[in-house]
Amino acid sequence: MENTCLFCRILGGEIPATVVHRTETTLAFRDIDPKAPSHVLVIPVAHHANVIELAADPAAAADVLATAAKVAELEGLTDGFRVIFNTGEHGGQEVHHVHAHVVGGAPLGPMLAGR
Ligand code: AMP
Ligand code: ZN
Repeated sequence: MENTCLFCRILGGEIPATVVHRTETTLAFRDIDPKAPSHVLVIPVAHHANVIELAADPAAAADVLATAAKVAELEGLTDGFRVIFNTGEHGGQEVHHVHAHVVGGAPLGPMLAGR
C-alpha cells in the first residue's frame, strides 16, 4: 500500500507536507486546499482505508482523536471546530487512507451544504 497511497507517501517523507503535530502513531498536517482558516488532517501511521477500518483498531482510533484534540488546542480553536471523517462515495472520500479533517477558525455555517 505504501507505494500507491498518497498519505503513506507523506508519512514516508516522499511527498512534502506542512506538519502541525506528530506522535508515534499519528501525523497532523495542513490540508493543501483549506476549506476554513484552520484545516488540518489527522492520520494514523498505520494504513486503514476508512473510519470503519479505523474503528476495528481501537488504539489507533483513540490516538487519532487525541491528536485531533491536540490540533484544536495548538490551532487555538477555543470557539469551536469540527472533526469530519468523509467516508465512501456519498461522503465524498477521495483519499483512501483514513483522515480526520479538523476545521475551524471562523463560524462554519450549516453542517451540510444546501440543507
Ligand atoms: P477527502 O475528500 O475527505 O478524502 O479529503 C482529502 C483531502 O486531502 C482534501 O481536503 C484535499 O485537499 C487533501 N489533500 C490532497 N492532497 C493533499 C496533499 N498532498 N497534502 C495535503 N492535503 C492534501
Ligand atoms: Zn496509506
